[in-house]
Amino acid sequence: MATASQPFNDWGCLGSEQELFTKDTITMALPMKKAREIIRNLIGDEAVRIMDFLGSKKNMSEFSIAEHCKLDMQTIRHLLYRMNGLNIASYIRKKDREKGWYISYWTFNLSKVGELLSKMQREQLAKLRERLEREEDGQGNFFICPKGCVRVDFDQAVELTYHCPECGSLLTQQDNVKTIENIRDRIKELQKGIKVAS
Ligand SMILES: [Zn+2]
Repeated sequence: MATASQPFNDWGCLGSEQELFTKDTITMALPMKKAREIIRNLIGDEAVRIMDFLGSKKNMSEFSIAEHCKLDMQTIRHLLYRMNGLNIASYIRKKDREKGWYISYWTFNLSKVGELLSKMQREQLAKLRERLEREEDGQGNFFICPKGCVRVDFDQAVELTYHCPECGSLLTQQDNVKTIENIRDRIKELQKGIKVAS
């Protein structure tokens, strides 16, 4: 089995993996700390380990990544393909001439994490705006269970004869001014964040 320390024969034109390491500075779309946080939230700590190992190296073999990150091949492939699905890691496959099997070589794309973040923020912003619109349209039209089980609109409250479907308590009309303020604040915060990131 090929290991990380051995240069692959059919990779000879590019030299060993050590030589594949590139010192090119990546265009820092966002700080590594932020990128780690995003990847941790989306995929988990193990993906952060992969990201930290790959850094700005290019075309690292899946075996080498598994060895350095101390993860089994099944886990490493699963994580790498998830990262690829999010567009933050790309790969090329190459047949190992000696062994006859394909090996994938991976590169982490930090700039794509920035793109991913702004895409997520835009989606979140759109959702919040929709929510705000619903809250404003239905002002004074929401009913809640005093025990906090449910929150429904007027039509649903009538349907439920003003009783909580979970615990049977009488539903009370909710003043959603606070909710509206809260959503507006979150929208403002998010807009600030988007400006900082872009
Ligand atoms: Zn209830």
